[in-house]
Amino acid sequence: MMFLNQEDRYALCVKCGTCRTVCPVFHELNEEGASPRGKITLVQALFESGFEPSKRTKKFISECLLCTACVEVCPNHVQTDLLVLSAREKLADTAGNKLIEAALTKVVFGKTGISFKLGSIVEQAIGEKIDLESGIFYRLPANRIIPEIKSKKFSASKKNIHTHETKTGFFLGCLIDFIYHDIAEDTVTLLEASGRTPYIPAHQACCGLPALSMGDIKKAAKQAKAVMALFDTSDSVVTACGSCGSMMKNYYKYLFDTPEEKKRAERFAEKIKDITEVAEPGMFDNTGHTSGTVTYHDPCHLKRGMGISEKPRILLAKAGHKIEEMHNPGRCCGLGGAFNIKHRKLSSAITKEKTDDIRSTTAATVATGCPGCMANISAMLVEQNLNIKVVHTVHLLASSLKKKPQS
Ligand code: SF4
Ligand code: SF4
Repeated sequence: MMFLNQEDRYALCVKCGTCRTVCPVFHELNEEGASPRGKITLVQALFESGFEPSKRTKKFISECLLCTACVEVCPNHVQTDLLVLSAREKLADTAGNKLIEAALTKVVFGKTGISFKLGSIVEQAIGEKIDLESGIFYRLPANRIIPEIKSKKFSASKKNIHTHETKTGFFLGCLIDFIYHDIAEDTVTLLEASGRTPYIPAHQACCGLPALSMGDIKKAAKQAKAVMALFDTSDSVVTACGSCGSMMKNYYKYLFDTPEEKKRAERFAEKIKDITEVAEPGMFDNTGHTSGTVTYHDPCHLKRGMGISEKPRILLAKAGHKIEEMHNPGRCCGLGGAFNIKHRKLSSAITKEKTDDIRSTTAATVATGCPGCMANISAMLVEQNLNIKVVHTVHLLASSLKKKPQS
């Protein structure tokens, strides 16, 4: 079991409660079991006393966005995300995950009538022959407006395929590959402007995060192996999705048992770069003009997972954008992959806090670095009839590149 050696991690928890102050789930539910501290106690009991988890315990374990806000503030660096994942893995070994999967399957296939819109993704997906293991089903707001799925994956488009000789790989992730081709194009533009020719393998699939977050480690490991194999010859692997990036950088190493496999995952982790790490301020016009006011939402996995928060702001400012900060730009948007399907009301309440925070600024544009956050926040703003656009950071950057001198 991949996360089994976590005893030392929960033993580090001194029950100070600092983590409760930042947990979006605890903020909504105000129950100890929903707090990071409460979850740690439950995980410990699950592993140490062998008690049969109640429905309520399973619910508390599933009520985590894996946003790591708790990890960021914990004085003892307790990794609640890993502990929650270890519990989900254990529950998946019994009945828990099967129940989650069954619920998701029902919702995804629209059989319950709960989620007509998500059901319609599946209709599109079946029409387009999307692999039903794709993370796309778990990375969109289930109960809101769903963006249209393109008739062809970006990675399957021949004009975008370069050779293995190219040392910079571009991992798209499901949302960009199936839906947001404009993000892929803008990322390619930025990579080329930085002097790189991206290698975009044709057979890209899910990074494995949705499977991991549901405790299905076998499936996540299988998907991780496939991704690593695609980029064997690349020196670096660039992504424009904070969630995929963090999965590949931080979690792959936990998916494997043998030292060789672990080492391979660690070496792969060193290659992972967000596009804003690769782009440099000198690539943009700095003529003092203002392109408008934007507010920036920090995706959890980009900020806390990959440690990237300042650089997108620096680049946006260099590209002529005035940044007006919301009160809590690093607070989770409430999507959390399968979390938003399983806990729809809770997810919506957390998203609404985010859009309220956005509304406290005068910005008419929100920039962010994760297509999942983008889809989720955007759908809530539309639902609230608000004329605020949500765009990926690369969109604002690619349109502000310095013009090449005419030859
Ligand atoms: S902040 Fe850390 S030590 Fe304190 S209760 Fe939370 S997990 Fe435990
Ligand atoms: S990861 Fe986020 S949602 Fe989960 S317990 Fe920590 S703060 Fe709460």
